[in-house]
Amino acid sequence: MANRTPLMAGNWKMNLDHQQAIQTVQKLAWALRDGKHDFGAVEVAVLPPFTDIRSVQTLVDADKLELKYGGQDCSAHVSGAYTGETSPVFLAKLGATYVAVGHSERRQYHAESDDLVNAKVKAALGAGLAPILCIGEDLETRRAAAHVQHTLLQLEGGLLDVSAEQVRKVVVAYEPVWAIGTGETATPEDAQEMAEAIRARLVELYDEETAQAVRVLYGGSVKSSNVASIMAKPDVDGALVGGASLDPEEFAAIARYK
Ligand code: PEP
Repeated sequence: MANRTPLMAGNWKMNLDHQQAIQTVQKLAWALRDGKHDFGAVEVAVLPPFTDIRSVQTLVDADKLELKYGGQDCSAHVSGAYTGETSPVFLAKLGATYVAVGHSERRQYHAESDDLVNAKVKAALGAGLAPILCIGEDLETRRAAAHVQHTLLQLEGGLLDVSAEQVRKVVVAYEPVWAIGTGETATPEDAQEMAEAIRARLVELYDEETAQAVRVLYGGSVKSSNVASIMAKPDVDGALVGGASLDPEEFAAIARYK
């Protein structure tokens, strides 16, 4: 792998209220400390529900934790009459580093288009956040062997008008929809095939050096038992972890994959 720091990001989805979030982050911090986790070698982040973020920030600041955190989504706007939306600027003000954008559950249940995802990517970057751009195919598309083409179109759509300088901050998460929350994991070879294709398209869109700087994560039923084989692939730079990130011991073990 080029000089990219792996990232393990835990997407809590709509789980854990703010009190449970405090307990979970405390337990995660203990588990990482017990495992003598080297945050310089593997970054660890959690993406809690919005209502938890202030509590997570307080804990991270008070205990000087190296744990990063962020949102699971953000608005494409900075402020204004957008009832129910959360500004990326507000997330940045709460000390967030990351924000997931275009997660398949947002695309599926909220009909998020590539255009909207692109606007969110740019808004997140404008606020100083690192967007985690989620892309990936459903089962039908994979069965039709159109998964690479489909996923690369989502990549291009999400990165439209994003400069080479800005894209270095973007994290791309390849998440085959059929592997999310199903217990089905893509094989390490599937993950590498797509991560390599994503990087090759980044070379075409930008240049070799820029493409080598962008981290590409795999997401879809990642657990401590399968993470090492996925991370052994040269173009995979980490994981976006859903269900398994709710268990602090398990998530710490995933971060300790080495
Ligand atoms: C996710 O929500 O991004 C995800 C990968 O979920 P899971 O790990 O539960 O499949």
